[in-house]
Amino acid sequence: MKRGIFLFAGGLLLCAAAGAFSVPLAAQPGVRTAKPAIAVCNRAAFRTILDVGHTAQAPGATSARGVPEYDFNLWLARRIEARLREAGFDKTVLLVTGGEARKALAERVARANVLGADLFVSIHHDSVPDFLLASWDFLGAEGRYSDHYRGHSIFVSAGHPQYARSLAFARLLGRAMKARGREYTRHYTEPRMGARRRALVDAEAGVYRFDRLFVLTLTKMPAVLFEAGPIIHREEELAMQSPERQALIADAVTEAVEGFCASRGRARLPRS
Ligand SMILES: [Zn+2]
Repeated sequence: MKRGIFLFAGGLLLCAAAGAFSVPLAAQPGVRTAKPAIAVCNRAAFRTILDVGHTAQAPGATSARGVPEYDFNLWLARRIEARLREAGFDKTVLLVTGGEARKALAERVARANVLGADLFVSIHHDSVPDFLLASWDFLGAEGRYSDHYRGHSIFVSAGHPQYARSLAFARLLGRAMKARGREYTRHYTEPRMGARRRALVDAEAGVYRFDRLFVLTLTKMPAVLFEAGPIIHREEELAMQSPERQALIADAVTEAVEGFCASRGRARLPRS
């Protein structure tokens, strides 16, 4: 995210495999076994919208080496899209918008709501407030960086009509990242973050509450904003560009989508 990009109501803000499975109970003579579980996740029918944060014209934060956040968002979102399609989620949509920031925010929400989806995931990369920035020389030019914080973070809005479902997906994603050895950043809990301080709603999964974001409030489907990592951090910036880190994140998102899709399916199963 980047300061000034996420203005809402006048506020200044920063910027197991599921699918088909069965219960492995061996039938024994004279013993009544549980019915086999039904395939609860129809991957071909489940639509995830992957929202590429910011636009080419209003690209969000700038990395330690001067690369726009939008580029990172697009690279990662494409990688996640490919991984989801590989897993059978053929209806996955990459949502790319252009133009001025506020207009693009309204457009991305409108397009998502018209399109309809089961899940909306906004992909971003993080920076820090200006007071944490330092200067360095990169290829003969002055760059700005901050090596203070590593790690991703996940945001949901309590003002969203499907807050509980949004939180459920956020938790799945946070746990999938944790299972892959990735720690979330806790700096949003620090008092010195001031207006950018957020309430941690799940300390295990690294889920924060952020009620004033357009995309987390005005979308009709469960919605989550994922800050994949801090590109303002000099080492993390390089890691975020690596195929290994991008594959790890794409796998984590896919696992979370699978779990979310399956849990939704279970909720819809008729009682017997
Ligand atoms: Zn952003």
